Amino acid sequence: MPGCVFCRIAAKEIASEIVHEDARCVAFRDINKQAPVHVLIIPREHLVNLAEADEGDRDLLGHLLVVARKVAEAEGVAESGFRVVINSNADAGQSVDHLHLHVLGGRVMRWPPG
Ligand code: 5GP
Ligand code: ZN
Repeated sequence: MPGCVFCRIAAKEIASEIVHEDARCVAFRDINKQAPVHVLIIPREHLVNLAEADEGDRDLLGHLLVVARKVAEAEGVAESGFRVVINSNADAGQSVDHLHLHVLGGRVMRWPPG
């Protein structure tokens, strides 16, 4: 998608600190981290958000969650605890319109989220 910052990160047109990549997704450190571990996982394919997802995206969405677990393990927070967040649309605070999973860990999280 022209002009999409996360498509450009996936294409390596914009530099990022990549921690995992495979045929379907790329995981990289958030530029403005909200926890000691804050990694974003994006599909290479441009999907806007979870509100636009359907049955055809099922395998991809499942894959992104398995990658979230792998990232949590690699970052050393799988046992201590981690949170996976997908902000979708305005009320959730989505600021980049390319589906992304936040993997957050390394500190105690509050509930409910802000
Ligand atoms: P959202 O608010 O849409 O759920 O999350 C978007 C996230 O992308 C934010 O946490 C923001 O810090 C991160 N972000 C935005 N632009 C860039 C960028 O160019 N590089 C990296 N690494 N993260 C970005
Ligand atoms: Zn995109």
